[in-house]
Amino acid sequence: MRECSAVSNLMSTYLRLPVTFIKGEGVWLWDDRDDCYLDALCGIAVCSLGHSHPELTKALCKQAGMLIHTSNLYHIEKQELLAGRLAALSGMDRVFFCNSGAEANEAAIKLARLYGHNKGIELPTIIVMERSFHGRTMATLTATGNRKAQAGFEPLLAGFVRVPYDDLNAVAQIADNNKHVVAVLVETYQGEGGVNFPQINYLQGLRQLCDQNGWLLMLDEVQCGIGRTGKWFAFQHGGIMPDVMTLAKGLGSGVPIGACIATGEAGEVFKPGNHASTFGGNLLACTAALTTLDVIEKDRLMQNAVQVGNFIRDRFKEKLAHWLNVIQIRGQGLMLGIELPVPCGELIKEALKHRLLINVTSERVVRLLPALIMNQAEAEQVVDISSEIIDKFLTGQAANIITRDRPGSSN
Ligand SMILES: *Cc1c(COP(=O)(O)O)cnc(C)c1O
Repeated sequence: MRECSAVSNLMSTYLRLPVTFIKGEGVWLWDDRDDCYLDALCGIAVCSLGHSHPELTKALCKQAGMLIHTSNLYHIEKQELLAGRLAALSGMDRVFFCNSGAEANEAAIKLARLYGHNKGIELPTIIVMERSFHGRTMATLTATGNRKAQAGFEPLLAGFVRVPYDDLNAVAQIADNNKHVVAVLVETYQGEGGVNFPQINYLQGLRQLCDQNGWLLMLDEVQCGIGRTGKWFAFQHGGIMPDVMTLAKGLGSGVPIGACIATGEAGEVFKPGNHASTFGGNLLACTAALTTLDVIEKDRLMQNAVQVGNFIRDRFKEKLAHWLNVIQIRGQGLMLGIELPVPCGELIKEALKHRLLINVTSERVVRLLPALIMNQAEAEQVVDISSEIIDKFLTGQAANIITRDRPGSSN
C-alpha cells in the first residue's frame, strides 16, 4: 500500500484507498508491490465472472480485433442477439442499450414521462423510495433517496414523490391523492441504502397498485440483477413481472454497458428520435454482455451464488453469534450486508490491512458483493477475516452499543 501523491490532475470526486491494483485473476487482485488481496466486492458488483476470466478475455480480444464501434446509425447484430437473450431470460420484450446504471434509469424515467404524456397527463410524476440509489445524473439524483448526495445540486427536478421503502400503505395513499403519478421506480433489493430486502409480499403489492392505477412498475436491478441473488433478476424471486427494468453493473463484467428493458405497452413508448446513445450497445460492450450471460449459465454460477451466499451467512452467524442481539446479517445469494449498531466506515481500511476488499454502505452496513465464481474456501477466508475485524471493532465500541440500543439499562 502507498499513500496517493498530493498532486493530482483528477477532480476530487473520490476518497480513494491508498492502493493501486495492476493485475487480477478470479477473486484475487495484485497491487503495484505485488501484494495479493482477496476481493469480496468485485468492482461493486461488476466483475461477476471474477477478474481476467479467460473466456471473456478471449471474446473481447477477438471482437476488438474485428470491430469495436459503429454507432447506432447502423444495424448491430450482437445488439439484436443480446436483446433477444435478455428478453428470453426476463420474459420482457424490448431493450434500449446505454453505458451505465444512471443512464439506464434516465431512460426509464424518460420512458415513464412520455408514457404519461401519451395518456394526457401533463405533469407526470414518479413514486420513488427513501434510501434508494439510482445514479448521479440530475434525474437519477433527484430519484435517489439521499439528501447528502443531492445537497448543493438544487434545483432538483420536478415530478417525483418519495415514500418509505417496503411500505405499501404509503404507496396506496399516493394513489388516492395524486392523479399525476405514472410509475413507481424502486430497487427490487436496495444496495447503497444498506442492503435492504423487502417483505415477501412487497413486490406483489406494488404490482397490484400499479395495475389498479395504470402505473408502470419500474425495477432498478442495476446492482441486484444478472444472477447475483441466485436468479437472473431479483424480481423473479417475487413471482411478478415489471413493466420496466434497468440493468448495468454485472451485465458487462467491467466493460461499460447498461440496459433499460420494457415490456407490453411500455416497450412501445419510445419512437425514433425520442432517445439515443452514441456508444450504447456497441460491439465490444455487447460481446462482453453475451459472454457474461453465457458463462453464468454454462458454469452454473447462480447456483454457486446461492450455495456460497448461504455458506457465508451461516458462517457469519456462527462466528458473530455473541453479537447477534445487536447486529443483523442479511443476504440473498452473493448480495450480503451486516448491519452494525454504530457507524463502521473504518472497517474498510482495517480489512485492507488484512488484504481483504469489503465495503461499508449507509454508514453502518458492511457490504459484500463477491464475484459469482467465489468458491467455498475463498468465502471461508472472507468470513474469517471480516468477522474477526467486526468482532474487534464491536468489542472496542461496547460502551456505545449498550447506551445506544438499551437506553436506561446498564446491565
Ligand atoms: C450503481 C447503481 C446505479 C448507478 O449506476 P452507475 O453505473 O454508477 O451510473 C443505479 N442504481 C443502482 C441500484 C445502483 O446500485
